[in-house]
Amino acid sequence: GPERFTREKHGIDRRHVSRHAVKVCEVLQQAGFEAYIVGGAVRDLIVGLEPKDFDIATNATPAQIRPLFRRARIIGRRFQLVHVVFGQEIIETSTFRAPASNGHETDEHGRILRDNQFGTNEEDAVRRDFTLNALYYDPVREEVIDYHRGVADLKKRTVRIIGNPETRYREDPVRMLRAVRFAAKLNATIDPATLAPIKPMAHLISNVPSSRLFDEVIKLLTCGHAIDCLKQLETLGLHQHLLPFIDTLFNNPDHFRFLELALDRTDARVRTGKTISPGFLFAALLWKLVNNQWDINQKEGLPRVQALVEAADTVINNQASNLAIQRRFQADMREIWFIQPRFERATPRTIWRLLEHPRLRAAVDFLQLRAEAHEVDSVDAQWWMDLANADSDKRSTMIEERQ
Ligand code: ATP
Ligand code: MG
Repeated sequence: GPERFTREKHGIDRRHVSRHAVKVCEVLQQAGFEAYIVGGAVRDLIVGLEPKDFDIATNATPAQIRPLFRRARIIGRRFQLVHVVFGQEIIETSTFRAPASNGHETDEHGRILRDNQFGTNEEDAVRRDFTLNALYYDPVREEVIDYHRGVADLKKRTVRIIGNPETRYREDPVRMLRAVRFAAKLNATIDPATLAPIKPMAHLISNVPSSRLFDEVIKLLTCGHAIDCLKQLETLGLHQHLLPFIDTLFNNPDHFRFLELALDRTDARVRTGKTISPGFLFAALLWKLVNNQWDINQKEGLPRVQALVEAADTVINNQASNLAIQRRFQADMREIWFIQPRFERATPRTIWRLLEHPRLRAAVDFLQLRAEAHEVDSVDAQWWMDLANADSDKRSTMIEERQ
């Protein structure tokens, strides 16, 4: 049977638990079902991090869950789950699922294509990825249920996969990336048996749909420990099918410095709860390559702005073959880049026009990043930041005094 931990042992402070998540568990339990908070929230609560969101696992089916709540909708076609809505907060509530072994469809590499059978709590625990992600917290009894010694691993800061590592990576190669992310985020080490197959199996990443890879890369870069993640990805050879340009950046000290600055800023924003736009992130990751190509294009005689536009196309097209950067993010990246030369040699007329640009804020942030990297003058970058923050009277004065 599973290990059970009382409040004294798991140490979860109930005040950090979403009251809506508690409510969902109470309602389900009063209706005679099992219901637990599960996954990332339990993990984060035990180590004292603030959970991003709260997921519930229950033995009630979607059809049984929905009528118990005033605002709840069934989501998904293959494997349905229920979103219980409380104002801004959505509590994702899923029925226990059975693991991969009972006749699931896989592709020729063993990757799971469908995953749609209900199961017991114990079965639900087996199909989760890591022991520290397979913990069930009952907020009514204030008890943690642990089928795979996840509490011990969490306290030792060990990322350990559940079951046979090779099989689990074949079923879903994204788990290799998740291992790296949780190790970085929790300042943990990957257990040797969990780590060993990653390098030899890294190529399986190329079978994963690129939209899913893109989402995972965003999670890696915004987990608050981005540089650690990238270093580990490179060491394990996982970057090749994700961010192959990372090699170039790591091998050029000037490029690497810019990458570090960009990701340090990202980490700092994440840790203070600010949002990160994927467009800005990729604009920063690819900037040095764009900047290089921009120089080359100008030396070949292209006018300054056109040289930049063509450099952006070249770099985005080279990268997009590996990781599908969604079009709207590509558009954001281009706008952030293309505003950069407009900060130079600006006249009052062009400054006023620039102030109306919807991406000005992001572009000024980007200018500050470039100033930190000593690419542009920091006093000038600060002037643009102050201008962006000023009201229109102050803006007039600033623009007059600039002359
Ligand atoms: P985060 O803080 O990034 O949200 P998380 O652990 O909550 O971390 P999610 O992607 O939200 O990650 O997934 C929720 C839970 O679902 C995980 O904790 C894990 O138990 C399970 N899970 C998610 N992805 C997988 C996977 N690829 N294979 C097996 N189990 C998974
Ligand atoms: Mg989560």
